[in-house]
Amino acid sequence: MATCSFCGEEYPDGREACPHCGSDAETGWKAEEPHEGIDLPDEMEEQDYQNLLREEGLLDRPTDGGISPVTLVITLFLAAALVFLFVLS
Ligand SMILES: [Zn+2]
Repeated sequence: MATCSFCGEEYPDGREACPHCGSDAETGWKAEEPHEGIDLPDEMEEQDYQNLLREEGLLDRPTDGGISPVTLVITLFLAAALVFLFVLS
């Protein structure tokens, strides 16, 4: 007996296809693990997205959890403007 790597059911040796789920060499059971092909594209897309942001100038440096310099400058500027308006009023 052999075990179908797709559905886990046992089937007689020498069968061209799993009698339980119908998987065969073309649809899957000798191929790579079903889940491996799913995660890789997501990682590639994330990397492409980061590269796109960097190319567009939207990402000054790799995200390391800190506040980007641009965000810091804008925040300080807005805070200063609010204080300035408060003092004038
Ligand atoms: Zn099967």
